[in-house]
Amino acid sequence: MFDAIFLDRDGTISHDPYGYINKLSDYHFFDYTFEALNVFKNYTKKFVIVTNQSGLSTGKIDLKNLEEIHNHIYEEFEKRHLPLKKIYFSDNYEEGYDSMRKPGIGMFKKASEEFQINLSNSLMIGDSIVDAEVGKRLNMKTIFLLTGMGNDYIAQVKSTCNVDLVSKDLLEAAKDIKLILE
Ligand SMILES: [Mg+2]
Repeated sequence: MFDAIFLDRDGTISHDPYGYINKLSDYHFFDYTFEALNVFKNYTKKFVIVTNQSGLSTGKIDLKNLEEIHNHIYEEFEKRHLPLKKIYFSDNYEEGYDSMRKPGIGMFKKASEEFQINLSNSLMIGDSIVDAEVGKRLNMKTIFLLTGMGNDYIAQVKSTCNVDLVSKDLLEAAKDIKLILE
C-alpha cells in the first residue's frame, strides 16, 4: 500500500492540449482514466492531484474557471468512490527547491502535513520532467508516462532521473504497478 498516490493533472489524467486550459468545456479526462484509477484504488486510500498552473499569474487562466474545472474533477472522483483528498495547484513560475511549483516540493509538503502522508511511502505519476524530478527529490516511487508531454522528455528523464517505471499511459501504469511494489 502507498500512503498516497500523487497525480499530475494535464497529460496524466486528462488531455494536455499544449496550452492553458481555461474553460471547463476544454477539460477532458482520458477515456481510460477511471478504469486506471480503479486499479490504483487498491493500492492507496489517498489520491492527491498536484498541478502547475502558472497561467494564473499571467492572466491566461482565471481562478474562477480553474475552480470550476477542479470542482468537476472532485465530483467525477466522488461519483466513483475514488478518495481524492485534495487538488493542489501552483500559480506562479518560482522554481526554488521549496516552491509550490514542481519540481519544488511545496505542494507535497503541504499535502503531507494536511493529510499525514509519509512521502517516502508514496507514489508520484506524471508526464513531465518536473514530475519525475520532484518524485525522486522526495524519494517517492515514480512512474513516468509517455502521454501528454512525456515523449518530449523521455530522453532527458532517462538520463537524469532514475524513475521506477516508464509507461505508455495511466492505464498501462495501473496494469504494471506490481512491478514496482516491493
Ligand atoms: Mg503534465
